[in-house]
Amino acid sequence: MTKLNGKIAVITGGSSGIGLATAKRFVEEGAKVVIIGRREKELAEAAALIGPNVTTVVGDVSRLEDLDHLFAVVKEKHGHIDILFANAGAGTIAPLAEASEAHFDKTFDVNVKGMFFTVQKALPIFRDGGSIILTSSVSNVKGLPGFSAYAASKAAVRNFARSWTLELIGRNIRVNTLSPGAIETPALETTTGLTREQAEQAAAQFASQIPMGRRGQPEEIAAAVTFLASDDSSYVTGIDLPVDGAWAQV
Ligand code: NAP
Repeated sequence: MTKLNGKIAVITGGSSGIGLATAKRFVEEGAKVVIIGRREKELAEAAALIGPNVTTVVGDVSRLEDLDHLFAVVKEKHGHIDILFANAGAGTIAPLAEASEAHFDKTFDVNVKGMFFTVQKALPIFRDGGSIILTSSVSNVKGLPGFSAYAASKAAVRNFARSWTLELIGRNIRVNTLSPGAIETPALETTTGLTREQAEQAAAQFASQIPMGRRGQPEEIAAAVTFLASDDSSYVTGIDLPVDGAWAQV
């Protein structure tokens, strides 16, 4: 597998779930990857799993100085970027009637502001002809009770791809969103604020609503990201690619 031979890829949120599976796949395809996350121990464990050709950076994508540091490391180590998978994000449960200002701000700080400045700050070292993939969610078109701030933040991400496609087309940089459905990652238990029991109930409820009858695996998202990152998708830009077992499609 050499679809990404010699490519330099940056993955935000590369220490867990979808980002980790994608980092592993990118390295298998011949890329060198740089991953960023906030927790040092998880980054080190991820690097051990990914194997060679990975660099880790500790940082928070909602902090602009951390993004400056990330791209300074990339520039020093590799000189440029070919592929950016802007994937870091999260959502916590908060029904509208109970949601706090802090909840709203945190959701948009990471998922929207973090995404915006991740891409902006990558541009000076981004190679013309490269590929940017933004992790949105099927919630960009679906109502998700209890997760309205999250769903709205992911709708914002979907528009980023439309606008940035036009802004970057002159440099032949393609920009697409990838929208996972319900994927089996640690997120449901670790970041949503649901108890283990509630998370299990939510997972079962999702599976019952999904036409394919199951949640997806992170590796199934990584395969789709690899398509968008590689020349296999050379005529694909501005799209939203849902990978959701038809959850939001029928
Ligand atoms: P995950 O397993 O919890 O992984 C999230 C990754 O992002 C971790 O590496 C985490 O590391 C990192 N991260 C979170 N906040 C960050 C921040 N502020 N700065 C830097 N890194 C940060 O979650 P996942 O399920 O793979 O989710 C990945 C993306 O897919 C997210 O954007 C999520 O919204 C989206 N998504 C997931 C699903 C799903 O069902 N799993 C569905 C639709 C969309 P640290 O915590 O150490 O920072």
